[in-house]
Amino acid sequence: MGLRKILTVKEPALHKVCKPVTSFDPKLHKLLDDMAQTLIDANGVGLAAPQVGILRRVVLVDVGGEDGAEILELVNPELVETDGEQEGPEGCLSVPGKYGLVKRPWYAKVRAQDRNGEWFEAEGEEIIARCFCHELDHLDGIVYTQVMERFLTKEELEED
Ligand SMILES: [Zn+2]
Repeated sequence: MGLRKILTVKEPALHKVCKPVTSFDPKLHKLLDDMAQTLIDANGVGLAAPQVGILRRVVLVDVGGEDGAEILELVNPELVETDGEQEGPEGCLSVPGKYGLVKRPWYAKVRAQDRNGEWFEAEGEEIIARCFCHELDHLDGIVYTQVMERFLTKEELEED
């Protein structure tokens, strides 16, 4: 395992469309393990492979358990269902220190492959749905700052 460097929004890798994963091999497993360590170290909720410079369709989402981090690995994920709407603050490890006001669905269901290539579905509401949408956007080169209404001010953030 090893920590990977998290790229910021200035890097070209954050603005490219990622390629599907085709080999479910030790190299993918190492990437997933490194990304998990990097996500935990950075205290984030989600991390997409392009954020560590790998242009493949891989994301991690911390779906939280009561006992702390429970990291869901999503390989080649697709959004298959959404419902409702929420508007709220959103941040990104690649945009350090800033938060924007972003509209997302309240509910989201994704279909993805696990590290061995098995397809499964995962669903979530509120922050999980927000995170699914945010991370999947990364795979198409979209950073939340491109879809937000505006950045939140320091005063607005302190209210929460
Ligand atoms: Zn992000």
